[in-house]
Amino acid sequence: RTIYLNGHFVPETEGKVSVFDRGFLFADAVYEVVSVLYGKLVDFDGHVQRLARSLGEIGIIGAPDADDWLAICRELVARNNLKEGMIYWQVTRGSPEDRDFVFPPADTLPTVLAFTQSRTLADNPLAQRGIRVITMPDLRWGRADIKTTQLLYASLMKNEAIARGADDAWMERNGWITEGSAQNAHIITHAGVLITHPLNREILHGITRASVLPLVAQRIEERPFSVSEAEQAAEAFVSSASGFVMPVVQINGQKIGNGQPGSATVQLRRAYIDWARRTAI
Ligand code: PLP
Repeated sequence: RTIYLNGHFVPETEGKVSVFDRGFLFADAVYEVVSVLYGKLVDFDGHVQRLARSLGEIGIIGAPDADDWLAICRELVARNNLKEGMIYWQVTRGSPEDRDFVFPPADTLPTVLAFTQSRTLADNPLAQRGIRVITMPDLRWGRADIKTTQLLYASLMKNEAIARGADDAWMERNGWITEGSAQNAHIITHAGVLITHPLNREILHGITRASVLPLVAQRIEERPFSVSEAEQAAEAFVSSASGFVMPVVQINGQKIGNGQPGSATVQLRRAYIDWARRTAI
């Protein structure tokens, strides 16, 4: 596989980063995951804009701009002959000469990395079955809206969920669901209302969430929902760049609907994939 690192396209085995890189030592880094369908980039503008926002929030300067990212992605897609899958982007505050909590001088170049992963997205078999989730306390820091590479807690949760016989975790703060381990969480009530957490610092402002909501046929309420509302919902699903719209069929062992992906969710998944195919660049 060919990857991109700091201005160069190189074989993955030749991509080397300093042991003093702040991404490695401090998780001082932000990232994006962009999906690829038919060799084209889904929701590219949204991901570039969110990356710029994340970088701005933590004050990393000197990263590629939108045109640069587009060129990098297209080159990676071509060189790796990627038809369907993801492109991962990461920008760190760079590699100073020593470990120090204080930021390095402003002229320290950020480390910029991008690589591809081939994966079946549109025909993902998990979407036929739906996923089972378990709720766990949201113990992350208070800026979940910044897409940093501090993913240890998400990784611990996902592994615990799997160890307990589920597929993934939903996080909860004081009884209210915030989001999934790496997805935004949504429910549809028996009255046919889609409920989704409002955009604030407690959740990542999902690019897929933003593109899915205009496709929703139901009334939408942007408000937190409780664990018990979720367990009693008619349908539930998560949204993310790599999973698109993914049905949730069980929450804390409680079947959602009849335990099969809900019909509105299945329809929404189809509508999103159609939209993504039409608008990918
Ligand atoms: N929430 C969290 C915590 C995430 O890590 C992600 C994606 O990685 C999302 C939500 C979904 O965001 P997007 O739709 O932009 O992929």
